[in-house]
Amino acid sequence: MMNTNEPLKILLLAAEVVPFAKTGGLADVAGSLPKALKALGHDVRVAMPRYGRISVEKFNLKEALAPFPVPIDEGTEPAGILQGTIGQDVPVYMVDSAKYYDREGIYMYPDDAERFIFFCRAAVEMLKQMDWRPDILHCHDWHTAIVPNWMKTIYADDPFFAQTATVYTIHNLAYQGIFGYRVLEIAGIDEYGFIMHPDTADLNEVVDFMSRGILFADVINTVSERYAQEILTPEFGERLDPILRDRRDRLFGILNGIDVELMNPATDPYIAVNYDVHNLMRRHENKLALQREAKLPERADVPLVGAISRLADQKGFDLISQIIDPLMNNLDIQFVLLGTGEQHYHDLFSDLASRHPDKMAVFLTFNAPLAQRIYAGSDMFLMPSRFEPCGLGQMIAMRYGSVPVVRSTGGLADTVKDFNPTTGEGNGFAFEPYDAMALYTALVRATENYKHKGEWHKLMLRGMTADFSWNASARKYVDLYYRALATKGKEHRLEEYELKRSEDG
Ligand code: ADP
Repeated sequence: MMNTNEPLKILLLAAEVVPFAKTGGLADVAGSLPKALKALGHDVRVAMPRYGRISVEKFNLKEALAPFPVPIDEGTEPAGILQGTIGQDVPVYMVDSAKYYDREGIYMYPDDAERFIFFCRAAVEMLKQMDWRPDILHCHDWHTAIVPNWMKTIYADDPFFAQTATVYTIHNLAYQGIFGYRVLEIAGIDEYGFIMHPDTADLNEVVDFMSRGILFADVINTVSERYAQEILTPEFGERLDPILRDRRDRLFGILNGIDVELMNPATDPYIAVNYDVHNLMRRHENKLALQREAKLPERADVPLVGAISRLADQKGFDLISQIIDPLMNNLDIQFVLLGTGEQHYHDLFSDLASRHPDKMAVFLTFNAPLAQRIYAGSDMFLMPSRFEPCGLGQMIAMRYGSVPVVRSTGGLADTVKDFNPTTGEGNGFAFEPYDAMALYTALVRATENYKHKGEWHKLMLRGMTADFSWNASARKYVDLYYRALATKGKEHRLEEYELKRSEDG
């Protein structure tokens, strides 16, 4: 095992990275964890695709490598490497290819499998071009899950990677990247065929990137301890729980941190008035500003509930939609929603807002500055997720003094403890069953407690003074990296896990 005092060389691969491209929490993590690892003294670098929307001028990107041939399918395609920076000095290598990335969006193209295989292959080959040998390839979600698979197949005997271990982080098991046999050819691993597992029969004739990351990585983790436990069960396992149970000795949970420099009400440039725990009375200016922006009545006394989210079933919007009418009719409350996602939710919430114009406002866009204004201007933050690998919204909300109202699952359960008015313990309002009445009751409890200003003030301060930084979790990742290096020595064979290659491919 390595000397644990030596700095590690880490390449973190992700499909989205703040501030360059973001659709969700993955980008926050990929943009903030490296800064924390760097602060611990490690040589960490990041790789991502250079999407067309990432401006060379705005981010002052420089050419790191001239275009070189990257194997893909039966031939090669050229990739250049542009270099940007996060924080003071974390290099971000962006794989540049007009063919694959010069498009309007990030995801949802018919050739997504090929686009991310290409990204990964270019990132791996780039290391050889640069002659930079990382100790750790830290892969995130299905887009980069092919890398651990390659390290145990086509690169298994490559001396360049002889000392390199892989870590695979699952941010959301629900997005697995499932494709047909053809992607094995594109990835250059068709000779190995499908992977058979006796307990996941319906996945044996497809290529499921997520399951390959889980099977081949030296160490696997999810983004909260609770979710790492939950996904071992059929309820949360998204059909991969048998494989996860086989690999449970390598599966860990590490809670995400948030970027406390970017997410800081004392310095946030997007909010009306900056504040911190020492001058909390200034905060209400942000509420009034938000009410103006949302075209709601400007009232300091009414509890204002905020929600910022992908509009997907995972996030509990079916529960919200079931109670929103009674909520609007029975409670003196305001609700501001910012989100994009499934069209039926866009239709539903537009309709609800038009029926409750003085109580409800919806912004159906992706708007980071507005998100900050909602965190700073709301009294409560709603996150009734069906499942939640970690969840960042509730932590950002607490840092800004908005009290979370959540369903107790995954990372929400790990970060939000239900307020107990008798003992004064807790930092938010949490309910257990995935049930509209339970959500309604939690909101009623929150609005009742909101009336007791002294107690509410304490709740806000508890959230604002909690440590949601990466300090603790970045150290846990370092431990995980050493564990991966140690595990790599004990090579596993697929057969040990009751898996076999398909006979005919
Ligand atoms: P997930 O990754 O499942 O979408 P998280 O809670 O982990 O959920 O992270 C969501 C992140 O994306 C948070 O930083 C949140 O503020 C941000 N976000 C979500 N929707 C929007 C939106 N419409 N506009 C701006 N930011 C958003």
